[in-house]
Amino acid sequence: MNDENKLREQICLLAKSIYDRGLTGGSTGNISSRTSDGGLLVSPTGTSFGRLDPNKLSRFDSKGVFISGDIPTKEMPLHSAFYETRSTAGAVVHLHSCHSVALSLMPDVDEDDFLPHLTPYSIMKLGRVKLLPFYMPGDPEMGKAVRGLAGKRSAIMLANHGPVVAGKDIEAACNAIEELEDTARLAMMTRGMNARLLNASQVKSIVKKFDVEWDS
Ligand SMILES: [Zn+2]
Repeated sequence: MNDENKLREQICLLAKSIYDRGLTGGSTGNISSRTSDGGLLVSPTGTSFGRLDPNKLSRFDSKGVFISGDIPTKEMPLHSAFYETRSTAGAVVHLHSCHSVALSLMPDVDEDDFLPHLTPYSIMKLGRVKLLPFYMPGDPEMGKAVRGLAGKRSAIMLANHGPVVAGKDIEAACNAIEELEDTARLAMMTRGMNARLLNASQVKSIVKKFDVEWDS
């Protein structure tokens, strides 16, 4: 199996795992990865994460021209915005994950630092997560809003919609978005219970030790 075929299988396997654990349902969510020739593989529009076909993934060349496969996701501008602004982005994942969306509906969340500081791993894997406002599905303004962050964030949360996370490769992006959803779940579970958060000095130590992007 050549590298591209392995990548196609890996994308479908990770997407199915996400679907099987209920992290995005129905035909929601989309996923993309850089190919070794500088092109992109993207999940097609209207497909379910549980049933992606490796042979039907949308394929773009290194110039961003669509060359084969089914029609790509409508949320392509979101993916492109990450690749264009973050040179380290090798993959992008977007989910409609329940607890992240629930947390985005809460009136008192910090738009500049969406996740409360509950565990070190969310800080290490995601940095500071930016909460963006609600946009109509497919609105190209979403892509513009991500571009407006100038590549300084690897993870964003679209209010009333779902998270989008970029990683160095497909596995890193999936691991990071799962961390986001797990942390949002912890936040919702402990909401109103006076949970003991990591303190500012602990957060600072984590950021320093693991060289976390923690730009404000
Ligand atoms: Zn979406």
